[in-house]
Amino acid sequence: MSPDGIKLLKTPVLDKSKWMQLPRDVIIGHDVLTQLPKVCEDLHVSGSVVVFSGRGTMNVAGNRVLSLINEVADAELFIVDAITPDVITEAEEAGCGADVFVGVGGGRVIDTAKIVSYNCSRPFISIPTAASHDGIASSRASVPVKGGSVSLAASPPIALIADTGIIAAAPHRLLAAGCADVISNYTAILDWELSHRLRGEPLSEYAMALSRMTAEIISKNADLIKPHAEESAWTVIKALLSSGVAMSIAGSSRPASGGEHKFSHALDQIAPGKGLHGEQCGIGSIITMYLHGGDWRGIRNSLRAIGAPTTPKEIGIDDHMAARALILAKSIRPERFTILDMGITEEVAEQLIAMLYEE
Ligand SMILES: [Zn+2]
Repeated sequence: MSPDGIKLLKTPVLDKSKWMQLPRDVIIGHDVLTQLPKVCEDLHVSGSVVVFSGRGTMNVAGNRVLSLINEVADAELFIVDAITPDVITEAEEAGCGADVFVGVGGGRVIDTAKIVSYNCSRPFISIPTAASHDGIASSRASVPVKGGSVSLAASPPIALIADTGIIAAAPHRLLAAGCADVISNYTAILDWELSHRLRGEPLSEYAMALSRMTAEIISKNADLIKPHAEESAWTVIKALLSSGVAMSIAGSSRPASGGEHKFSHALDQIAPGKGLHGEQCGIGSIITMYLHGGDWRGIRNSLRAIGAPTTPKEIGIDDHMAARALILAKSIRPERFTILDMGITEEVAEQLIAMLYEE
């Protein structure tokens, strides 16, 4: 008993506290870029804003974003030509004094903005101009470095503005890669479950359910994902957002990144610049689903229907390189246990690739 007579608990309460960061404002639809001043008003954005944009995206959306922000705050521009540790340092030096960051562009621009946002402890608004991967709303970003890439902590956006007119006008290859990134959630979850059973890694059922549902929606609608259709852009953006939210719930990229992502990172080392992130993950997912004993043909057929590549050859990678990547994959982030840690040999990798991709 405590001095004031209250009975104390004998065992300490298990600390289940968790901090999830989710976007506050999400606006998806036709011409929603015009809503930017309203979003700034809602978030009480004033003072100074640094807009990160790619050179090519200035005409697509960057110039409009600058003038819309100038209606409510002082906007400055930082052009991201490439994502490298040096560019990130330069962006921090240029931008850390600002109140808010805005990233308008593709993956490398959004990733730069969210890393700088995290390092400078400032909120950031995500305005993707393509739907090529699920980083548009997640709290991780990968940065290419010599001999591969590193995954860095980043801020999830405080707001996401996805203008489907702009996204539908982007090359279809980007949208298809975004779909493939989401479809690969199927195998990421299986890897997570495997790690839970064999290594006792904690699971988040909510994150898993959301991630699986996201993959299902894209697979089921694979025939409806068409080039340059705003309806398709809308479906894919919602899926990428949900995938990002699943990662925020889990507090890691686990619900959307397993062996197929490690395979993609290995390809980045062995054959840099060949395939897009999502394309490589989709191709990897066919193999890891086969290894899990699941419906790998279903994954392949969905990717095909969408127009995403299903073989290494389609992205300029020969079978031998792909087999090497499959073996190298387990040495990338070795703490993340996946089906590729279950003893696959180079010989089997070669056979598997010949079998699965030649069918
Ligand atoms: Zn991914």
